[in-house]
Amino acid sequence: MTEAQATPQTGKRVLLAKPRGYCAGVDRAVQTVEEALKLYGAPIYVRKQIVHNKHVVQTLESQGAIFVEENEEVPEGATVIFSAHGVAPEVYEQAKQRSLKAIDATCPLVTKVHQEAKRFAAEDYDILLIGHEGHEEVIGTAGEAPAHIQLVDGPDGADKITVRDPEKVVWLSQTTLSVDETLETVARLKQRLPLLQSPPSDDICYATSNRQHVVKEIAPECDVVIVVGSTNSSNSVRLVEVALDAGARAGHLIDFAHEIDDAWLADARTVGVTSGASVPEDLVADVLTYLATRGFGDVEEITTANERLTFSLPQELKRDMKAAAARR
Ligand code: SF4
Repeated sequence: MTEAQATPQTGKRVLLAKPRGYCAGVDRAVQTVEEALKLYGAPIYVRKQIVHNKHVVQTLESQGAIFVEENEEVPEGATVIFSAHGVAPEVYEQAKQRSLKAIDATCPLVTKVHQEAKRFAAEDYDILLIGHEGHEEVIGTAGEAPAHIQLVDGPDGADKITVRDPEKVVWLSQTTLSVDETLETVARLKQRLPLLQSPPSDDICYATSNRQHVVKEIAPECDVVIVVGSTNSSNSVRLVEVALDAGARAGHLIDFAHEIDDAWLADARTVGVTSGASVPEDLVADVLTYLATRGFGDVEEITTANERLTFSLPQELKRDMKAAAARR
């Protein structure tokens, strides 16, 4: 934690959460598109938003990426990148049938959950996948073993599931859920299924839990918490909920600084600022600049963890980059 800064002029301050913003999986996915554009040239097709952030998607579009919903929209033989959220096996199969050159930017921590799903399905477990219905990551994970997986969408969803053998059930989860709500869902499931097994390691990823942890630290002191992130970003939406649950008087999700409503700041002395795992730091810098013009120029960064994790680029891309370098 940095030393608190005095705020003699206005008494107003910003508590800036750290860690915030880009996680290792997002960084890798964005770099994958950038490097593919450099290596193969535009256009590069990307199935679904590479990460759930409006600004990132717009920036990559301006560089020559074309975002599509399904493989059918990609011309035969073209290059397609699969997003950080992961895809079901049938999506690889469709790409093969259309002779697409597929590059998989699925976050390795999502791939880990896919592997768990495959392993438990092979052992004939019933798998209770805690996650949000319709989210791309959940669709991808469930696609690994549709006959074995049931979705549990929040604590109330726990009451609806039925299993074949209560002694052979495991829960897994989406990587970007609320840690506390997931624990509540698991507790509800265990009331009905006392022998429910847990995943071999946490499925909610380090980036999601670290961002929630620091928000919980700052929220009780904040009149308002501003979370930079897009509305379709699960982990960003969760940060607003976590801030409110932890005592922030108000919480707002914005994509850009110009979306801040001055009414939010009218009676505020302390504003918390953080950003979701798919948000580039320059968007946070814009928010701090805006807040400074409204008297919130004193910024104290509150650090609860230092993240050093990085992931290497997808193998198929690295191989082509190496071959291109060797030809030069
Ligand atoms: S939020 Fe977690 S699972 Fe998702 S891309 Fe980032 S590190 Fe990977």
